Amino acid sequence: MARILLSGPDVTELERTAVAEAFDSGWIAPLGPAVDAFESAMADRVGRRCAVALASGTSALHLGLLAWGIGPGDVVPTSTMTFAATANAITYTGATPYFVDSDPETGQMDPDLLARAIDRLHVEGRRVPAVVPVDLLGRCADYTRIVEIAHRAGARVLADSAESLGAVHAGIPAGKHGDAAIFSFNGNKVMTTSGGGMYLTDDEDAAARVRHLATQAREPAVHYEHRDIGYNYRLSNLLAAMGIAQLSRLDGMVERRRARREAYARIVAEMPGVEVFQRVGDADDNCWLTALVVDPEATALDAAGLSAVLTAAGIESRPLWKPMHRQPVFAGFPALVNGVSEGLFRTGLTLPSGSALTEAECRLIDATLVDALAERAAAPRWEEAAP
Ligand SMILES: *Cc1c(COP(=O)(O)O)cnc(C)c1O
Repeated sequence: MARILLSGPDVTELERTAVAEAFDSGWIAPLGPAVDAFESAMADRVGRRCAVALASGTSALHLGLLAWGIGPGDVVPTSTMTFAATANAITYTGATPYFVDSDPETGQMDPDLLARAIDRLHVEGRRVPAVVPVDLLGRCADYTRIVEIAHRAGARVLADSAESLGAVHAGIPAGKHGDAAIFSFNGNKVMTTSGGGMYLTDDEDAAARVRHLATQAREPAVHYEHRDIGYNYRLSNLLAAMGIAQLSRLDGMVERRRARREAYARIVAEMPGVEVFQRVGDADDNCWLTALVVDPEATALDAAGLSAVLTAAGIESRPLWKPMHRQPVFAGFPALVNGVSEGLFRTGLTLPSGSALTEAECRLIDATLVDALAERAAAPRWEEAAP
């Protein structure tokens, strides 16, 4: 049996047919009817006025910041608990990422720390024109507080919702929070175009600016006039066709991810020291990835030990994101930390969560987990084993 992946693509005959039809239509370019239709379907789904389909979530973050004029000299607070793409995109603009640590329950950007970070930066005379909170593992960040704090401080909010399409916070869908938001359609996300992204906003000028920058900043002149440095960041029409098909299946895919989380929750329910991460209040999450948090004090088998058992059975697992302030490449950037992300990095383990997992794969994962956790419960702890 092939290795069981954390979050493999979930594609069917529907996607294959959609791509073939786009191919046959002759629109084999980063524009065409499927791109337009995908953009309006996503805008409708999320309730945004504008959507721009792009080559990746990273390019959407990059252009979203550029559209607001973010650049050298600016400081952009962001979550330290994230994938590197968020911080990478901030550095592409020449701005400085400022890493903000996490709420212990959710792992999301801690709003109180954000407020302190912005105050501190303002006292130092720094410009803080934007904040980029991240929706961790498919749960929306605490936008109710973050947007209020950011706006009061004169900063706009670009929501990195790469992982959270289909999630809801305070009755508002992911992608609708903040002044603008981005999604990723990478192969491992809730839905995929194999690679792709989307920028969403209600600000028509910002959306037009993103569209312009994404198409090499061509001015409307037959000879290609250019006033700005542009990028080649648009999504292929073939991939947009796949996106439309995936979006029609999104709710079903989220339901299957949720069922996986429920299965993990049942398995660890009786295991002291092991919990499903972000379990409390997860009814509106899209359950993109389910992780366990393993308390090393309470267990003979820690997260790394559990990971080794799963690997031996051909099952992929991975620690939660290594915090950005601990990454060698970002070590020189400022941060406001409280130890929470470090702790989650040590104790968290992400489990296979994809909607394309087969029943046989789920049975193997569950049986391996049950065995590993039962053995762990039976194993004497160090103090007890000592003479
Ligand atoms: C996947 C991801 C991205 C990047 O998206 P790509 O489409 O791979 O460029 C950005 N931010 C977060 C939080 C992600 O998980």
